Amino acid sequence: MSDDTPIAPHGGVLVDLVVDGADGEALAAEAVNLPKLVLGERELSDLEMLAVGALSPLTGFQGEADYDAVLDTMHLQDGLAWAIPVVLSVTDEELHRIGNASSVGLTAVEGGEPLAVVRIGERFARDKQREAVSVYRTEDPEHPGVRALLDAGDTCLGGTVEVLTVPTHDDFTSYRLTPAQTRAAFQERGWKTVVGFQTRNPIHRAHEYLQKCALEIVDGLLVHPLMGATKSDDVPPEVRMRCYEALFDGYYPKDRSMIGIFPAAMRYAGPREAIWHAIARKNYGCTHFIVGRDHAGVGSYYGTYDAQRIFEGFAPDELGITPLMFEHSFFCVRCEGMASPKTCPHEDADRVILSGTKVRDMLRNGERPPIEFSRPEVADILIAAMREPT
Ligand SMILES: [Zn+2]
Repeated sequence: MSDDTPIAPHGGVLVDLVVDGADGEALAAEAVNLPKLVLGERELSDLEMLAVGALSPLTGFQGEADYDAVLDTMHLQDGLAWAIPVVLSVTDEELHRIGNASSVGLTAVEGGEPLAVVRIGERFARDKQREAVSVYRTEDPEHPGVRALLDAGDTCLGGTVEVLTVPTHDDFTSYRLTPAQTRAAFQERGWKTVVGFQTRNPIHRAHEYLQKCALEIVDGLLVHPLMGATKSDDVPPEVRMRCYEALFDGYYPKDRSMIGIFPAAMRYAGPREAIWHAIARKNYGCTHFIVGRDHAGVGSYYGTYDAQRIFEGFAPDELGITPLMFEHSFFCVRCEGMASPKTCPHEDADRVILSGTKVRDMLRNGERPPIEFSRPEVADILIAAMREPT
């Protein structure tokens, strides 16, 4: 499929770790008797991403040489750009239980069917302090990514993964497209250039504007929300999906835009995660990727433009996908349209700018934010959701 698709996967080959047919049956029979590891939500998400090639060229959980190289140089050992380690951490208790086994089965729940088998190539100590500083730029345990890192086991199992069953979901199934499926969908639509948009929030006018600015210069738009593990104060996935659907129904050209789900777990690693997100979207077939302000950030750990600047550290052909950097945007009453500080010469007083807190307060009070800020259909869904018992 790589011949007539517009962009090659990272490293050149779209990885597919699923083993089926007679080999799959043999693997399933073997897996039954292997020691098992029950994966947490994050690792399950990583397994799904690995299985379908969203993390191409990775074919399993990273070993120490790649782990070190990623932390120190943002590249794999072989020199390919890579920003965030993808490792399988185990606790001392799990390590003891696995013993000297050379393979281990992965399950979603205790006693569950094995989803995959890891061929353990190595065991190495996870250097949490160094990883925190490199990936998250902080050791603060209040940072959700650092917190998850500190809570993970102290030893990593590196090794290739053979997948029996890709972790499944019972929600949004029609939107759960693998990289092979988005690539096929782009081809079917005749899109040679596609921009990917990462989000974990409802989309208001500002982000709609960025997407449409990008769409002016490419063939298609993939709105690619993350529906995996996010912070508990984020808007719930089912509410967000209703918002995206309302927006698509009312305001997006059907032959130029589509929604897919990005199965990643959020790290909140800001700049490094922006690189990681871009590489993954390249695997999904996107040629362009929107990087706004504070991409994948949390709190005040990162500078507003850090996630854009980090791209300057890579030669364009290292990433392959083209980042499109955007400013904060807003409706300006004097420009009479959506604009940004790059395109609007007016003062803040002329601009419809609302803080997140203000918007939440309005919605909680059953009040629509101004139409210049949020589409009424989206506002109504959020208002209704806030009234639902949680
Ligand atoms: Zn203006």
